[in-house]
Amino acid sequence: MANKIPENARFVEVECKDCSNKQIIFLKPATKVNCLACGSTLAIPTGGKADIKGEFVGVVE
Ligand SMILES: [Zn+2]
Repeated sequence: MANKIPENARFVEVECKDCSNKQIIFLKPATKVNCLACGSTLAIPTGGKADIKGEFVGVVE
């Protein structure tokens, strides 16, 4: 899943696997990103491209 994300992307839309909430997140976050609706983890910082835990929807231009 994560390998579909282009290297030059900065923001991506991710769908929460628990509640289907769609959320735009920074692809290289400094802190863990949680779903605003249910609090489930959507992305974990790695120092580079985040480890996306939700469903990748698309790149936000
Ligand atoms: Zn959620």
